[in-house]
Amino acid sequence: MDRKIYLDHAATTPVDPRVAEAMMPFFTECFGNPSSQHSFGRDAKETVESVRGQIALLINADPDEIVFTSGGTESDNFAIKGSAFANMNRGRHIITTAIEHHAVLDPCSFLERFGFETTYIPVNSNGIIDPADIENAITDRTILVSVMHANNEMGSIQPISEISSITKKRGIPFHTDAVQTFGHIPVDVKQLGVDMLSISGHKIYGPKGIGVIYIKKGTKITPFMHGGGQERGLRSSTLNVPGIAGLGKAAEIAASLIDTEPGRQIALRDYFIKILAENPGDLKLNGHPVQRLPNNINISFNNTDGEYLMAGMDIAGIACSTGSACSSGGSGPSHVLHAMGLSDRMVGCSIRLTIGRSTTSKEIDTAAEIIAALVKKARAMTPNF
Ligand code: PLP
Repeated sequence: MDRKIYLDHAATTPVDPRVAEAMMPFFTECFGNPSSQHSFGRDAKETVESVRGQIALLINADPDEIVFTSGGTESDNFAIKGSAFANMNRGRHIITTAIEHHAVLDPCSFLERFGFETTYIPVNSNGIIDPADIENAITDRTILVSVMHANNEMGSIQPISEISSITKKRGIPFHTDAVQTFGHIPVDVKQLGVDMLSISGHKIYGPKGIGVIYIKKGTKITPFMHGGGQERGLRSSTLNVPGIAGLGKAAEIAASLIDTEPGRQIALRDYFIKILAENPGDLKLNGHPVQRLPNNINISFNNTDGEYLMAGMDIAGIACSTGSACSSGGSGPSHVLHAMGLSDRMVGCSIRLTIGRSTTSKEIDTAAEIIAALVKKARAMTPNF
C-alpha cells in the first residue's frame, strides 16, 4: 500500500494546513498576552474576541456566553463540577447517561465522594435514551442533567431538544457534550435548548488543547480555575491565543463544509458497511442505523477478536480503534457497548472505523479488502472466539 489509511477521526483529526498557517503568527510576531494593556495585548485580544464572536454565531449564542477552555474534557468537568458547586445548597442529584464519555462520568463519580448522587439513564439496543426516563428520574434535589449530543464510540445521536423541553419545564440546567457533533453536523444551542455545551478543537481539524464551553446567560456556575480572572473570572489562565486562532479557522472551514461533507461521509459510511456486510459478512452494526454520526461505523464481526483485527490492520497501515481497549480514552472494555446490551464476547469482537474529510472510496475499498482477509483468517484460526 502506498499510503497509510487513517480511519480513527473520532479519536482525533489532522490539523488542516490552513489552520496551522492561521496559528503561526500567534507564536511569533503576535505573541502578546490578551490581558495586557499595550498594542501587543490589544492585537491578541482582537483575535480572541473575533473568534469568540465567530463561535457564538455558529452555535447561535452570544459572544459573552462563550468561554475558552483547554478542550472537551475541561468543558465537561466545568459544566458538571461548576454546576454542582453552584447548586449544592439546592440539591445534590445529577442525571446523566450510561454511555457518556469518561470526561462526564468521572466528574460525576468524583462528586459522589462529596455526597452527590448520580442517576445513569440506560439506552436501548440502538444506543438511544428515552426522554421519559429523564423525566421520571428528576427529583426535587436534581441540579443538573447531562446528556451527550452524539456518542464517540458508536455514533448514536440523542434526542436533545426533546430532553430540553423536559428540563426547561422543571427548571433544571441541561448540559450536552457536543464534542463529536460541533463542526460535523449543525449545532444550534437555541434549537437544542441547552444551557451548557462542550466543544473541542482537535475533533474538527483544529489543534489539540483548545475547547469551548457555551454557558447560557443566567446559568448558575462556579468558576473552574481561579487566578488572574480571565474569561470574566470564570476560567482564569492566560488565553491560548494560537489555539484560539486555530479553533477559529477550523470552525470557519467546518462551517463552509457543513452542507456538503456530512452527505459525502454518509454515502461513504453506508458503502463501507454494505461491502463489509457482503465480505466477510456475519457482522453486527452497533448503534442506530440512521440516527448516527455521518462518519461513524462501529461493527462487531462474529467470531473475530477485535484486538487481533486492529493489530492486523495496524500492520497493514490502517488505523482504527476497538471496543475492547480504550477507544473513549478510558480503560477496559467499552461501557458504551455494554450499556447497549452487547455481551462481553461481542464487545471483544468490535472495532470502530471513523472516516474523515480526506477519506476516499478507494481507501475504503482497500481497507475493506484487508479487513475481510483478516476476519476470515481470524475465524479460521479461532472459530469459537
Ligand atoms: N467528549 C467526547 C464525546 C469525546 O469524544 C472526547 C474526546 O475523545 C472528549 C469529550 C474529550 O475531549 P478532549 O480530548 O478535547 O479533552
